[in-house]
Amino acid sequence: MQMIKVIRIYLLVFVTLVIISCSSERPADKIALNNKPNVILLIGDGMGLSQLSAAFYFGDSESNFARFKEVGLMMTSSAKHSITESGAAATAFSIGEKTYNNAIGVNSDSISSLNIVEVLSKKGYNTGVISTSSVTHATPASFYAHVVDRSMQDKIAKQLVESEIDFFAGGGTSFFNSRIDSIDLIKKLRGNGFVINPETTSGKLDPAYKYGFLLADNAMPTILENRGDFLPDYTKLALDLFSQQQESFFLMVEASQIDWAGHDGNAEYLIAEVLDFDKTVGVAMDFATKHNNTLVIVLADHETGGFTLALKDGDYSIIGPTFASYGHSCNLVPVLAFGSGADSFRGIFQNNEIFHKIMAVVNK
Ligand code: MG
Ligand code: ZN
Repeated sequence: MQMIKVIRIYLLVFVTLVIISCSSERPADKIALNNKPNVILLIGDGMGLSQLSAAFYFGDSESNFARFKEVGLMMTSSAKHSITESGAAATAFSIGEKTYNNAIGVNSDSISSLNIVEVLSKKGYNTGVISTSSVTHATPASFYAHVVDRSMQDKIAKQLVESEIDFFAGGGTSFFNSRIDSIDLIKKLRGNGFVINPETTSGKLDPAYKYGFLLADNAMPTILENRGDFLPDYTKLALDLFSQQQESFFLMVEASQIDWAGHDGNAEYLIAEVLDFDKTVGVAMDFATKHNNTLVIVLADHETGGFTLALKDGDYSIIGPTFASYGHSCNLVPVLAFGSGADSFRGIFQNNEIFHKIMAVVNK
């Protein structure tokens, strides 16, 4: 026992010396060049230009969206319909091809297509997804699962366990521990090296492990129901974890409920969800300004509700948020980018281009 301890100490000293000698020989900028850029993809589900504008008129402080210099507009149509839903849209981002509405990680012939998490994992990236819906919901699922329809959440949960994902946070416990097939997926996750719901979430996580946070049976509560700072806090938690690890990382963060507020035609709910997303974008931007080998992309999968901030009662000083629909629209949506390769997100482009733009930055 004593002998093992001595060997361990020698090994630790040796490794430390190697690290010190490497870092003293290699200038810092060269290390950055040798590392692939980190990618933080922030998706405001249903966040059109009016939803984003709300952050500028209803926030207490200047919007974090104002920190971006590179801005584009994106067409969101799916392979077969002018108006998309979230599965087809997120799959276009994750596989680089437009597909049919309700598809998750499969192309328009219903065939599984390699997604960005799988591609980047092969390049040595650590990967994570965070969402204010269930982690098995359409948007996050599109980054790790392959199923022909978004409603197949039992199957999606099973595929999360087998996926390359190293960090996840959101709702959806019931898809893991109260299943029709009575398989205990929480146990399987633990078997695959995951720490599930550790009690101390305020402190730093041990970079030796993978982490899963399942914090609600299905969706997370709304921001008006006291969800609190879940989204900014867990984004920071993931970034702190990934920055302690040697590998580059890809992190997808979704503000799911901007969309749900649009479907409800509830402006108060919508604005509160946008402001929560704005705060989360601030966390990513603070990280990227400190770690300059990072690309931050903020976008929407589509617009929801035909939302607008229009004049009310003929009074130019009163904004009357209104909705044209309870469904999605095909309005072009904003794309904001910052950091490594951000200039490639300028212009007007199709949603599936996001995958190819990210890959071009990573492969540069
Ligand atoms: Mg969504
Ligand atoms: Zn929707």
